[in-house]
Amino acid sequence: MSAEQALRVELCEWAKSMFMRGYSSGGAGNISAKLPDGTLIVTPTNSSFGDLVPERLSKLDPQGHWIDGDEPTKEVSMHMAMYQQRPDCQAVVHLHSPWLTALSCLENVDKTNCLPPITPYYVMRVGRLPLVEYFAPGDPKIGEEIAKLAQQHSAVLLSNHGPVVGGTTLRQAFFNAEELEDTARLYLTLLPLGFKTLTDTDVQELNNRYPQK
Ligand SMILES: [Zn+2]
Repeated sequence: MSAEQALRVELCEWAKSMFMRGYSSGGAGNISAKLPDGTLIVTPTNSSFGDLVPERLSKLDPQGHWIDGDEPTKEVSMHMAMYQQRPDCQAVVHLHSPWLTALSCLENVDKTNCLPPITPYYVMRVGRLPLVEYFAPGDPKIGEEIAKLAQQHSAVLLSNHGPVVGGTTLRQAFFNAEELEDTARLYLTLLPLGFKTLTDTDVQELNNRYPQK
């Protein structure tokens, strides 16, 4: 199997797993992954994570133009912003997962970090989660806003929409997305009960011990 075919199959397997576990339903969300020559494999528009076909995934040139396969998601500009600002980024996952989307609808969140450091793994994997103001899906302004944040952040949360998460491999991008969704679920569950976060010292120690790549 060629490297491209292997990546196509891996992407579809991850998508199916996310669909089966409730991270994506209907036609929500999209995924991209970069090949060694800089071209990109992307989920098609109106496709479902539950029944993607490796051979029908969209293929884009390194600038993000559609060159093969089915028509790509209309949210390609969000993925391109992450790749252009983060040279080590090899995959991007965008979800409408329920807990992160709920978090993205809250009033009065800290826009520089809307998910506090309640567990070490969130700090080690993602660190901080800035909020991007609301624009309609497909609006190129979303990509422009992500571009402003992506050098400093491997993940952002779109207001009233959902997360955009990068990774140095497809597997890492999904791990990061899962960690974020689970942390949002913990946070929103704890919110009415009161909770304690890691201290600034705890976070600094984690950052020293496990530097963000
Ligand atoms: Zn979306």
